[in-house]
Amino acid sequence: MNITEAKKQIMGKLELDDVNSGIFYGEWAKIEGRDTMVSYSPIDGSQIAEVTMATEEDYQKVLDRAQESFKIWRDIPAPQRGLLVKEIGNELRKYKTALGKLVSIEVGKTIVEGEGEVQEMIDIADFALGLSRQFYGLTIVSERPHHRMYEQWLPLGSIGVITSFNFPCAVWAWNAMIAAAAGDICVWKPSSKGALIAIATTKIVNRVVEKFGYPPLFFLVVGRGREVGEWMANDPALPLISFTGSIPTGKRIAENVAKRLGRTILELGGNNAAIVTDQTDMTIALRGVAFGALATAGQRCTTTRRLILHQAIYDEFLTKLKNIFEKVKIGNPLEPGVLVGPLIDEKAVENHLNAIQQAIHQGGKLIFGGEKANIPGLENGHYVIPALIEANPDMDIVKEETFAPILYVMKYRTIEEALEIHNNVPQGLSSAIFTNNLRDEEYFLSPSGSDCGIANANTSTAGAEIGGAFGGEKETGGGRESGSDAWKNYMRRQTVTINYGKDLPLSQGVKFDID
Ligand code: NAD
Repeated sequence: MNITEAKKQIMGKLELDDVNSGIFYGEWAKIEGRDTMVSYSPIDGSQIAEVTMATEEDYQKVLDRAQESFKIWRDIPAPQRGLLVKEIGNELRKYKTALGKLVSIEVGKTIVEGEGEVQEMIDIADFALGLSRQFYGLTIVSERPHHRMYEQWLPLGSIGVITSFNFPCAVWAWNAMIAAAAGDICVWKPSSKGALIAIATTKIVNRVVEKFGYPPLFFLVVGRGREVGEWMANDPALPLISFTGSIPTGKRIAENVAKRLGRTILELGGNNAAIVTDQTDMTIALRGVAFGALATAGQRCTTTRRLILHQAIYDEFLTKLKNIFEKVKIGNPLEPGVLVGPLIDEKAVENHLNAIQQAIHQGGKLIFGGEKANIPGLENGHYVIPALIEANPDMDIVKEETFAPILYVMKYRTIEEALEIHNNVPQGLSSAIFTNNLRDEEYFLSPSGSDCGIANANTSTAGAEIGGAFGGEKETGGGRESGSDAWKNYMRRQTVTINYGKDLPLSQGVKFDID
């Protein structure tokens, strides 16, 4: 299917035009008088549509309206807030195919991955509904007679959500659905590379909000990262900034938000490794590694970028993996059977080619792929052939996240050595071991094992479920989103002490007699 045909199927359904407002401040800001940016498809380089960008005045209007909405939303009981989120999930179910296809067109994911992204939004809405009845606090025993103590969790305010291109709507939903159930208002600055997806998503969810008669809860500010992103990071009206993106930008945001003592959730780059031991189910390991390395053309934060193979299976595993790399279908992600679509833009292709040159220069051996891929009829798309490179763990390039399908392969002898190699990078997002050896698996999960936020046994580094807390350590930023108790980030904790006695005993036995 070509882009023109795909666009015809979805643009009307998603209420998108040739030129779209990128600013929602309770209503959609007018198109006139604002600069626009063009959204191009990485599939064939064609223009999809234009989007207006926010001025500083627009941004201020968004923030003012968000504060007004918060005053109402925070007092709606959480289970009722949950019912709205549930309905948003249901509405998204109706748009799964159309929105999924837009994800394919605008950021180049395969059709199944595009729909998977929308499914993730639906899943987190379901999760947030359950959560809306479970914002539990502790009851604490008091040291004073006739006193009662407990903790309660209260809404935090308007929160800023800045998202990356590679999960153009799911990451927003991880934040927004939990935040809405928690009683917060969400101000979203999406990646400019996924602006149409953000507009379509905002239209879908706001129709539900309107139907319920609530004030606007989900605001949108499309614009340049260096402008809108910076306004948000520096704005004390946003007590929390949830940022998903690259490490250098994340560091800048962390600094700016820390200067005003705000909170951050940082979901930054990964450099994820899979260890394959000498006692492993080869079929599972090959599938897991191939999916981890190739899915989304290597543009997942959880992409497998390093493969650490036991010397006893090194040659056999690598030969089989090379076969998979040779056969994998690269091309138009709208076509069934294609597993590797385009990179997001020409800069990403350049980064891919440069990283491979650097790897060779630093002593790596290219054993497959790496070059540009020419797809007939899609000459202006941004396609590359995934690369397999035998590498040394100390090479500088191996320690970097290149957002492209490059897999560095390394050899180990003992499990201790494998973990040394594994942990010897600045990032700490996801990790995997493929093994049937219980001792190796447990070592991998022990305090001496993986130093990542996510550790998987016999499944890929990529493809997390929403039920777990998602995020990573070290330069990945330490943030946690999505499931488990990540909701606590979106609320403020209050410790309450109630005296129901007839005296005023003080803590620690302190006396303060004023008679
Ligand atoms: P990016 O850092 O280029 O952009 C991310 C967002 O930041 C965009 O919305 C961008 O407009 C905005 N931005 C740019 N400059 C800014 C500034 N000065 N202040 C505030 N905001 C600014 O990242 P990307 O290329 O869109 O995404 C890829 C990166 O995201 C990879 O490093 C990937 O690993 C990471 N990522 C991490 C996770 C995770 O959960 N850990 C998930 C997805 C992506």
